[in-house]
Amino acid sequence: NFRCRSAFKLLEMDDKFRLLQPGHSVVDCGAAPGAWSQVAVQRVNSAGTDPELPSGTVVGIDLLNIPPLDGAHFLSSHDVTDPSTHAKLLELLPNGRAHVILSDMAPNASGFREMDHERLITMCLSLLDLAEKVLQPGGALVCKYWDGILARTLHERLSRVFGGVRTLKPNASRKDSAERYFFAKMYRKRIK
Ligand code: SAM
Repeated sequence: NFRCRSAFKLLEMDDKFRLLQPGHSVVDCGAAPGAWSQVAVQRVNSAGTDPELPSGTVVGIDLLNIPPLDGAHFLSSHDVTDPSTHAKLLELLPNGRAHVILSDMAPNASGFREMDHERLITMCLSLLDLAEKVLQPGGALVCKYWDGILARTLHERLSRVFGGVRTLKPNASRKDSAERYFFAKMYRKRIK
């Protein structure tokens, strides 16, 4: 039983790309009410359900309250874009490293399509700062965005630090919505 239908989007993307492996550490950005975290807990075995497999870590972050979930650590009332959240995250992740960053974050829609698009792209760009702090080389990022003029900018910025970037529209995502996901893999740290 999932807390919300968005779980099916992540299940679909993970079935296709196998990004969540037992033993992995995962950061779930914009995690409330917790459906993606439920999927992540199952796939990385962070509740230790299968004792034969390595057990992973799931840390979820949201501005809202996230009800407790076995196998997950939640930072409720935390802003993903705030550097003080990044510091707390570093403490919760084993060796301060994540294999995968997931983001289903979305701002409250204003109803002005262009404005909502720009706000969400800005939030996605801030995930690059988070990645620089916690994502391990070779790691992956999945982030939701609303399609629009700045999608190319985000794609381009992701391509600078990831070995491969693709656009996804899960079947579970409403056909008439502008919702898309970028799946970026093979992270390489920015060379300073
Ligand atoms: N993936 C979630 C699930 O399966 O349960 C649903 C996520 S919902 C579509 C988007 C969430 O992003 C909202 O709960 C919202 O509070 C959160 N959010 C928006 N901006 C945020 C921010 N700056 N930091 C943390 N969470 C944020």
